[in-house]
Amino acid sequence: MANNREDEMKCAFCGRRGFTPEVGPLVIGPRGANICKDCVAECERLFGLEEERTKKNAKDALQEQARKPLPKPAEIKAELDKYIVGQEDAKKILSVAVHNHYKRLFQTNGNEMAKAFEDVEIEKSNVLLIGPTGSGKTLIAKTLARLLDVPFCITDATTLTEAGYVGEDVENIILRLLQAADNNVERAQIGIIYVDEIDKIAKKGENVSITRDVSGEGVQQALLKILEGTVANIPPKGGRKHPQQEYIPVNTTNILFICGGAFVGLDKMVQRRIGRHVLGFAADRREIEENRQLESSQVLKAVEPEDLVKYGLIPEFIGRLPVITSLELLTKEDLVKILVEPKNSITRQYEKLLAIEGVKLTFEKAALEALAQKAFEKGTGARGLRAIIEQMMVDIMFELPSRTDVAECIITADTVESGVPVLKKVKAKK
Ligand code: ADP
Repeated sequence: MANNREDEMKCAFCGRRGFTPEVGPLVIGPRGANICKDCVAECERLFGLEEERTKKNAKDALQEQARKPLPKPAEIKAELDKYIVGQEDAKKILSVAVHNHYKRLFQTNGNEMAKAFEDVEIEKSNVLLIGPTGSGKTLIAKTLARLLDVPFCITDATTLTEAGYVGEDVENIILRLLQAADNNVERAQIGIIYVDEIDKIAKKGENVSITRDVSGEGVQQALLKILEGTVANIPPKGGRKHPQQEYIPVNTTNILFICGGAFVGLDKMVQRRIGRHVLGFAADRREIEENRQLESSQVLKAVEPEDLVKYGLIPEFIGRLPVITSLELLTKEDLVKILVEPKNSITRQYEKLLAIEGVKLTFEKAALEALAQKAFEKGTGARGLRAIIEQMMVDIMFELPSRTDVAECIITADTVESGVPVLKKVKAKK
């Protein structure tokens, strides 16, 4: 550091005296941290190298992705089947949509036959998933991203507002994806974004009874551009944009948007249009209600864009979501399957936890049915299952690790009500 006037006139980096014909002027920094123009140029070069290296890494990652074989729709569906029970139509439609989306990105220069279509541009096919809460919308989107190994994020449309209102700017959803891609812009540009609660940004109409964000239509307008494809300027730290900030440009043309929502009341609009009525003979009130719920999710299969317009989505917005598919309300049988079939089902997770303690955990069929019935009554789809099981298992998980005399723990239909399992003791050693 400078301790006399002589040093004060030197470049702190190369040590040469400044204000000479050879070195030229210096930028005088605090406490003698001066710098000459050659050293500034060197710094710029080094920063440039670093930037190039980051860009090259990003490009490499992209090329790597393009080299990976693109799974066929049937392969995608088979993989989804491992994790998602039921929802056959949705899984099939999504497998095709996602396959085409990535084919469009990576396999543009195909065979001779495809070359004839060089000037045909395949449009992006964003997806709209309509289905009751807890029916697997988020799970499908998440599973797809994992099996394709692309960045993925989940955002909630209700937190968004049009510019100028309190809330998040729509660009923030791209920021989440960028973060999920470890700030690799190139990778983020081929990611998948799941936008939940998309029905909550429908504009209020006379036909709709539930309360919504007044700025719903504005948010739809704001989302239009990024759904279609634009270079969005992302504030690196999130929050609201302000003029002095630096932005990261991210092109959204190849980002796949999957929007999901429960669209409560949409079934009635579809029903009115197609004129089908729910009639049924059922033994009791509960059964009538259950039939009504199941039927209404069937009706949603006939949904048309015009119904969504009635619901409060603007036509341009619906136009950006060309693939529309509905998920069914999960039946009690589905819920039982969800308890045992998926690779990482909740019952398997508990079985593993207790196996570590050396205890065999068994769920009787009647117990699974009782759990499914309880979840079905709650009306939150498969989402309720975990909460119900967790509540039932608290005491069991509290007690068993301290017991050395238990060999098997059996969950019966009774256990679902009382929380008390049947315990089989370890045979006494002779
Ligand atoms: P939503 O339709 O509300 O987005 P989610 O996909 O978040 O519902 O489902 C919540 C949880 O319920 C999931 O994490 C998963 O454990 C379970 N689940 C929901 N639907 C299914 C399904 N069809 N198959 C297997 N598990 C499911």
